[in-house]
Amino acid sequence: MKRHPVIVVGGGPVGMCTALFLIGRGVPVLLIERNEDLFEDPRAATFHPPTLEMLAPSGITASLLADGIIAQKWQNRDRRLGLIAEFDLAILADQTEFPYRLQCEQHKLVAMLRELMAPWPEFELRTGETVLEVEQLGDHVRMRTDKDEYFCDWLVGADGGRSVVRKSQPFVFEGFTYDERFLVITSTYDFERDGFSYSNYVGDPDEWSAVFKVPADRPPGLWRAVFPTSPSDEEADLVAIDSATQRLRRLVDSDRPFELTHTNLYTVHQRVADRFRHGRVLLVGDAAHLNNPLGGMGMNFGIHDAENVARAIRAALESGAEAAIDRFDRQRRTVANEFLQSMTVANKAALEERDPEVRAARQAELRRIAADPALAHAHLLRTSMIAGLRYANAIE
Ligand SMILES: Cc1cc2nc3c(=O)[nH]c(=O)nc-3n(C[C@H](O)[C@H](O)[C@H](O)COP(=O)(O)OP(=O)(O)OC[C@H]3O[C@@H](n4cnc5c(N)ncnc54)[C@H](O)[C@@H]3O)c2cc1C
Repeated sequence: MKRHPVIVVGGGPVGMCTALFLIGRGVPVLLIERNEDLFEDPRAATFHPPTLEMLAPSGITASLLADGIIAQKWQNRDRRLGLIAEFDLAILADQTEFPYRLQCEQHKLVAMLRELMAPWPEFELRTGETVLEVEQLGDHVRMRTDKDEYFCDWLVGADGGRSVVRKSQPFVFEGFTYDERFLVITSTYDFERDGFSYSNYVGDPDEWSAVFKVPADRPPGLWRAVFPTSPSDEEADLVAIDSATQRLRRLVDSDRPFELTHTNLYTVHQRVADRFRHGRVLLVGDAAHLNNPLGGMGMNFGIHDAENVARAIRAALESGAEAAIDRFDRQRRTVANEFLQSMTVANKAALEERDPEVRAARQAELRRIAADPALAHAHLLRTSMIAGLRYANAIE
């Protein structure tokens, strides 16, 4: 029986980064991914500064910069009033080498990581193989797939929101699911001509939106807009090109011609596992936590999990002690609850606020923050995920 030091389940952005960070610390990895080909659904496209810092030593950040779009500024807008406040991330140049958001689709990150790691002897990738069951056997883990069985010292579940790894162990996935689904519309409509920046949050009590630019396959790129939908609406009607076109027209009130390239509907959850560790089975990324996409944080947070878990596993393999694994659990779970969940829930609540007085007060507050460099600096440290990561790493 061959015993691997680490098996990672799931080759999405978080599983691939976990492998990258482990191999960077000298730990070989077997990674099992269900899909043969890359899955190109339009999900994450925003990279925050700490994530770019973590990926820089491997050269991946340089590749993302070559393929991506720098969003130097982001805006809070109101659907009727227009621009409320604009934030320029350049103010964080005293804190990070990458003081901006980088817009690049998550499947491109996965493709870059596959290409980088393919020749590495420490990286074994098995695609087209599905993990069915995970069982703990004292000092090691047994995993069964639809093709074979494997053994390892540590198993990392990076297999997404419906994680088989999580369900195979007594984890509890606490939280809730929103009634309404989120509709993502991708189009050629150029919002920059209407004064939008490359990343925007548009508040409205009836139909808020998040609008951002993605590089797509060619310049000038495409724009994505995320909308809430009514729980009673039929999926077929929501994703129909005609109704989606009308929805986008309502947002920009323009008669310039544009073309829709995609519509997608997502069920959105706010959940965090009650533990990120059960014995020798660890959870990272969407397997451990799910949140709404307002703020562009889910994948970034998962990559921060990956960096932390790689450090912890390396320390455990080296010392035989498990204190670092417990610390990974404490650090990442605490910030998942205190930052990731609370910020994304608050982002949605602010965008859809119905009370005009509360909305006006919130807008006045945003203007005040944007106009005061010290307040803007603190606000951007939080929203760019730098403060949360520092807070996590300081937990003993
Ligand atoms: C509309 C939308 C927009 C978003 N925008 C952003 C954003 O801008 N920024 C951001 O940070 N986040 C964003 N997110 C969230 C982000 O997409 C996720 O957090 C991210 O994909 C999580 O990565 P992951 O690797 O943990 O999981 P996934 O991307 O779900 O990858 C899991 C992988 O595991 C594989 N797998 C599953 N089960 C098995 C099995 N049994 N055996 C083997 N393999 C298996 C799957 O095939 C998949 O490849 C957005 C999400 C949505 C829906």
